[in-house]
Amino acid sequence: MKRIAFVITSVSIVLLGAAVVAQIPQAEVDSHVAAARAAAGMDFRNTFINLCLPAAGRGGGRGAADAGAAGRGAGAAGRGAGGGAQTPDRANWYAAPFKVFDNLYWLGTRQHSSWALQTGAGIIIIDTNFAWATEPEIIEGMTKLGLNPRDIKYVIISHAHGDHDQGAAELQKRYGAKVVMGVPDWAATSQRPENAAGGVPKHDIAVGTEGMNLTLGDTDLQIVSTPGHTPGTLSYVFPVKDQGRRVVVAYSGGTLTGAFGADGARWDEYIASQRKIAKMAADAGASVILSNHSEYDGAYTKVRLLAAPRQPGENHPFIVGTDAVQRYFTVMSECATASKLRAGAK
Ligand SMILES: [Zn+2]
Repeated sequence: MKRIAFVITSVSIVLLGAAVVAQIPQAEVDSHVAAARAAAGMDFRNTFINLCLPAAGRGGGRGAADAGAAGRGAGAAGRGAGGGAQTPDRANWYAAPFKVFDNLYWLGTRQHSSWALQTGAGIIIIDTNFAWATEPEIIEGMTKLGLNPRDIKYVIISHAHGDHDQGAAELQKRYGAKVVMGVPDWAATSQRPENAAGGVPKHDIAVGTEGMNLTLGDTDLQIVSTPGHTPGTLSYVFPVKDQGRRVVVAYSGGTLTGAFGADGARWDEYIASQRKIAKMAADAGASVILSNHSEYDGAYTKVRLLAAPRQPGENHPFIVGTDAVQRYFTVMSECATASKLRAGAK
């Protein structure tokens, strides 16, 4: 009798255990969301909302510009040839270019950013936007700011999605710029059809998991492999000058995690990448956080704040401080940890 009771109890404990495992560990999810919310503060609300809230920011809601980013989960090859090829209404995206630091210029649309980093030996373009933005934003933008597009030596692509890389082939062809991309993202790019929007760049400099240092003139840019958003996502740490003073930028190359599903390894890779770039940013004393989407770093708004005269003691609008840069990456890793648990990924 005693033995039967013991067996029944054991069976129910096993069943109870299975039920608990299958459920989302809500308290644990909540604690990671709370950590991310605290890290975001008022500075990184959009990053927090898009990464931490269930089903938020998973495509849609960002207008025509997002069309080319569809299929981001499947990698760059998943995007159709026509993605982003048609120019959307200029009134919805055009933004004038701005000089942000002594040697860094913003060439973005309202939604997506391209940056020109001027060195003593030419210009590095960081991300390129959709093909339809190449002429009005990058080429005309540089000309308006007194930069010569013929001085473009490198185009570095954070990841092979149309909203960041469709201008690369044109800049390579027209100015002989060398295109830099992560190894897996080059592989995805080479599978695109020839008539893909913006064309297909010729295979050029490929960055592996070890990353690389890109030195041009007086500027040394650390390229960090941060796989996650795509398998070959690159992030950067590099110095700029603010009225002659050296300031270090951390650039986050890929953000959304919406398509990871139950793929635990992919979540873990993304989380490890955020910790890696956060540490490199901390070691370099990065006090500026930049992204390729204005909604994450506030670039579209902040470039406008540059026009307001700085009050005594007031900092450059893009200099958020070393602590805030770390908090940005904490938002990314904590939200990803919460989302991984919600997805039941192992
Ligand atoms: Zn993307």
